[in-house]
Amino acid sequence: MSDSEEEDDALLCPVCLDLLYEPVVAEPCGHEFCEPCLRKMVAKSAPAVRSRCPKCRQNIAYCERDEGTENIHLVARLIQ
Ligand SMILES: [Zn+2]
Ligand SMILES: [Zn+2]
Repeated sequence: MSDSEEEDDALLCPVCLDLLYEPVVAEPCGHEFCEPCLRKMVAKSAPAVRSRCPKCRQNIAYCERDEGTENIHLVARLIQ
């Protein structure tokens, strides 16, 4: 196991514990989730709670995606 570093862990979504699918990056903590998982998280959480990163429990201000600015805005709107 000399080749595997923390990279492996970074590819896993902390919500579904599977490989990241269309990953989005939560800011400001920088953790990654699948976009579908993020949507589910937002839908499940009570309005007062807002969205917290399931990995570090920080409040998520917004999420970024490497490609597709429309999706960035979409996810950001879901959170707020
Ligand atoms: Zn996921
Ligand atoms: Zn986090």
